[in-house]
Amino acid sequence: MSGEARDACGVVGIYAPDEDVARLTYYALYALQHRGQESAGIAISNGDSMVVYKDLGLVSQVFDEPTLKSLRGHVSIGHCRYSTTGRNTWANAQPSFKSGPEGQVALAHNGNLVNTLDLKRQLDEAGGDPTPNRARLGSSNDTEIVTAFIARAQRQRDTRQALKEIMPRLSGAFSFTIMDEQTLFGVRDPYGFRPLCIGRFDSGGWVLASETCALDLIGARFIRDVEPGEMVSINADGLTSDRFAAPSVATCVFEHVYFARPDSALMGQNVYATRYRMGQRLAEESPAAAELVMPLPDSGVPSAQGYAQTSGIVYGEGFVKNRYVGRTFIQPTQAMRQQGIRMKLNPLREVIAGKRVVVTDDSIVRGNTTRQIVHMLREAGAREVHVRISSPPIKWPCFYGIDMPNQDELIGSQLSVEGVRDHISADSLAYLSIEGMIAATELPSDSFCTACFSSDYPIPIPERELHTKNVLETPRPRSD
Ligand code: SF4
Repeated sequence: MSGEARDACGVVGIYAPDEDVARLTYYALYALQHRGQESAGIAISNGDSMVVYKDLGLVSQVFDEPTLKSLRGHVSIGHCRYSTTGRNTWANAQPSFKSGPEGQVALAHNGNLVNTLDLKRQLDEAGGDPTPNRARLGSSNDTEIVTAFIARAQRQRDTRQALKEIMPRLSGAFSFTIMDEQTLFGVRDPYGFRPLCIGRFDSGGWVLASETCALDLIGARFIRDVEPGEMVSINADGLTSDRFAAPSVATCVFEHVYFARPDSALMGQNVYATRYRMGQRLAEESPAAAELVMPLPDSGVPSAQGYAQTSGIVYGEGFVKNRYVGRTFIQPTQAMRQQGIRMKLNPLREVIAGKRVVVTDDSIVRGNTTRQIVHMLREAGAREVHVRISSPPIKWPCFYGIDMPNQDELIGSQLSVEGVRDHISADSLAYLSIEGMIAATELPSDSFCTACFSSDYPIPIPERELHTKNVLETPRPRSD
């Protein structure tokens, strides 16, 4: 992956009277940092009142020891964000929070709603944000609207009843962790686009998290996934499950391909093993005559290992990655920018020179990074460069919580496979088929959203929402 499509967020929720909840939430967010690096926040309650602390930056930059010590309570939610609706501002950082005469509510969202404008209109008709001080803080995201809806419904009902009324009115992708002063809630949309799992501590406390890797880090054991269309409520009475919609499962296949951490399990399948099988299938579908299979680190590693195993070609590490180039990296000058990807990756001439090389990656978005990679490999002495991608060409934008470029910037939408090969100057280029990708998950073929590869959108996108997202084109016929 060229870092050109980004996940939308990681969410956490903890109910654990016998634990240091703020610290556990911090570590769980730390495990989910790959899902969002723009901002982070924690809301916590001691049963009577709630505190929210959030800021722009990485989890480790937002929180320090004194801050964590000041966050006391036994119910919490946490969030790390990459923006899909709304700019990267402090006000748009989550958890979002509303306080009204009947209570407080905080919400953390992974996903993206596709009826935001309708919800905004409904909220305005119902009287708008009920927060007495109108503390909207200039935020501009769909999450804020949902939180205001809940706060308004709280006026007549308890939070659980409010959620049961409101959730069926939402359309799009949402895995929420929500809390009032006493209760933690986890909600997953009927399609289950984004993951959300339930874990438990030996002490009896509960955890909700986007991925199982967060449970591992804080010593909780995996219990089960929150089901699509399910809401769980966790408080002193234990866990209660409500269904607010019949499931119509279409989980994001890209979570398996790229977004989730390889040490997580999605729908019961270990992500590393799935990616390894994708590499194996890629080798079966698109063999290459070569002396070396190497990954684009880190995301291409499991597929390269699978490709090498099936093809019998030697696996090697042909790039050294600088692991300290992150979002806080001081942007290079124009002259330095010519070095481009070299800031992050440096080829190992000793491994590459004189060889025909297969290089694997999980996807091509704009194609510019892949082109630089091929150029670097040739400079390092590769005799031939064969690019193998462990997913099909991305041709359509995502409206369900993944930030992708507009369709006219997706090279797979604009050029045929041969056109892309020519653009990146590879000797050969092949993508994994949609069928091969799905088969590698070893899950039922009707379990997935594949819209960015197939244009088969599980939820139609209202025209106005297309414009809201600045995606002005409707899907066009395939170009190859
Ligand atoms: S369009 Fe692509 S990235 Fe978006 S939810 Fe569907 S499979 Fe995932």
